[in-house]
Amino acid sequence: MTRRGLGLVAVTLGLATAAGAEAPNPLAEVARRVRSEALSRTAAFDRLVELCDGIGHRLSGSKALEAAVAWAQVRLTSDGHENVRLDPVQVPHWQRGAESAELVSPRPMALAMLGLGGSVGTPPEGVTAEVVVVSDDTALAALAPDAVKGKIVLFDHAMPAWTPERGTGYGTAVKYRVVGAVLAAKAGAVASLIRSVTAHSLRTPHTGMMRYEDGVPKIPHAALAVEDAALLARLAKSGHKPVVRLRMEARTLEPAPSHNVLAELVGRDLPREIVLLGAHLDSWDVGQGAHDDGAGVVMAMEALTVLRRLGLRPRRTVRVVLFTNEENGLAGGKAYASMHGTELHVAAIETDSGGFAPRGLAVGLPDAAAERTAVPRLGAWLRAVDPGLGFGAVEARGDGGGADISPLAKNGVPLFAYLVEESRYFDVHHTAADTVDKVDPTDLARGAAFLATVAWSFAESGPP
Ligand SMILES: [Zn+2]
Repeated sequence: MTRRGLGLVAVTLGLATAAGAEAPNPLAEVARRVRSEALSRTAAFDRLVELCDGIGHRLSGSKALEAAVAWAQVRLTSDGHENVRLDPVQVPHWQRGAESAELVSPRPMALAMLGLGGSVGTPPEGVTAEVVVVSDDTALAALAPDAVKGKIVLFDHAMPAWTPERGTGYGTAVKYRVVGAVLAAKAGAVASLIRSVTAHSLRTPHTGMMRYEDGVPKIPHAALAVEDAALLARLAKSGHKPVVRLRMEARTLEPAPSHNVLAELVGRDLPREIVLLGAHLDSWDVGQGAHDDGAGVVMAMEALTVLRRLGLRPRRTVRVVLFTNEENGLAGGKAYASMHGTELHVAAIETDSGGFAPRGLAVGLPDAAAERTAVPRLGAWLRAVDPGLGFGAVEARGDGGGADISPLAKNGVPLFAYLVEESRYFDVHHTAADTVDKVDPTDLARGAAFLATVAWSFAESGPP
């Protein structure tokens, strides 16, 4: 519907309308300037190309991650930002090494796999065993005692597809990636596999973080492409007792030095009060970390630069933080909270859902009742800026925040997550296909404009 159409509906219903929109709306005016500047530039996408093609993926402990740290420092400095600095952080150092999974019986076939981050390796000759397929932990518990002893467990758990009503199915499906090795080892398995955590697949396996538990044997843990997990499930169901050989050289080395990268637009009135805009520089060791989270990095950088170019210096300081080690340890977020947690943060916003079209914001407050009342205020704020931005990004939700900024919650800092059109995010998340060609340059510029408006307004007037 057009705005004119909305006005007619409102008049018909006899409502007081957003036609109040005719009244001066300084926030929308700022948003309009920010949008015009951001969409006139290609800097965000140009920089994503520099990061993704020039440096590539950036796992904690890698030389590439430190190259990305140095790159970000140079770019933030050349944009004229204040207090550009590197905070030292020790990060976990896991290396994948060579790896493979092959079907041995009933016929030889290479399987599409990726080891999961933090997994132990196999002996050099690999682990060869029959695969027992279960859908979830209830099905595993229902098996006869010793049914998986000496075998490989495959958690063939399907992630539900994204829907507008329910959103992504990632939250529930990721469980077997995180704790599958513990569940399988407790049952006596010698290795564990998962169906990749995605609802759509072109035979691309998805990696990601996993955990062990003290006192439970550490067994190798890997993801198969959805198609290959489904193949093993069909073979098992038809009585073929599939046998797989898993070979992984994965190992964990001593922690390595890394850095969070900080830059500021210092507030004109209350410089010691901070609005944090964060994203993470590290990525998994496949693909290019383009949507996850190169897009967040370049949108945060560009948001700060757009405000500076427009001379929009808010009352409080806007601080961009490019965190290290979000993917496998959160050492960057924890180090930031311990080094800067006593500074007064009036809000922290994280962008880590890809560089898709803007949809809105989610707010997270320590007090659940306060959060419930904050959501409608946030919605009103989004509707007030939307006439200027024109993206229709007016979705307000609770349960906001982000992994890197989550350690600030204990200090009572209001946390916000940037919401995007995420229906395709998990198709490429943590895969070899998370490459810069999947990112739309205009969506990225829109995201930078949205985040610049959020940062300016929260720093000027406080979060709604
Ligand atoms: Zn991420």
